[in-house]
Amino acid sequence: MLQHNCTLCIHRNPVIHDELAGDLVPEQTGVDRYADVRAVEAMTPEQRWKYFEDLIAPCVRCYACRNACPLCYCPTCFVDESRPQWVGKGQEPSDVRTFHFLRAFHCAGRCTDCGACERSCPVGINMRMFTKKLEKDCLDLFGWEAGLTLDVRPPLDVYRPGDPNDFIK
Ligand code: SF4
Ligand code: SF4
Ligand code: SF4
Repeated sequence: MLQHNCTLCIHRNPVIHDELAGDLVPEQTGVDRYADVRAVEAMTPEQRWKYFEDLIAPCVRCYACRNACPLCYCPTCFVDESRPQWVGKGQEPSDVRTFHFLRAFHCAGRCTDCGACERSCPVGINMRMFTKKLEKDCLDLFGWEAGLTLDVRPPLDVYRPGDPNDFIK
């Protein structure tokens, strides 16, 4: 069975590559990539809070999701830092939330929804629901899709005075 992210993929052929090891395959069209994100966006704040609380409730802070992510190559991850200590290392709910929110934002504009994080999780958490929201926002707000070019910096990596900012409350 295909992984969920693979069913939504619209770049089955590698966009950037040195050598293409196989033949090109047909790309999927007409894929609704963000139906699950829109469903969460349509919730009330209370429903949304509960949704994410339930989503990360089984998290054991093993960091397999971070370790599997091709974007998580920092010499010292913020969760391992002790001076300063950005986040507590136990199971305090606010620390578990902070880990997930911060890791997701660190991937914003860079995540390609490869799904390695979800596949690696020993307790079956679909943490792509964090990164997919940010992926959708990058597309909606900046027309940006990660992984399609080496020549342009991702949106959260650059600042232009003319950037759209209507969404800043
Ligand atoms: S889906 Fe995104 S956050 Fe998850 S492993 Fe792939 S690049 Fe990293
Ligand atoms: S979660 Fe953030 S700090 Fe940690 S390895 Fe990934 S990008 Fe780096
Ligand atoms: S892999 Fe799963 S259990 Fe481990 S830190 Fe990530 S979300 Fe939590």
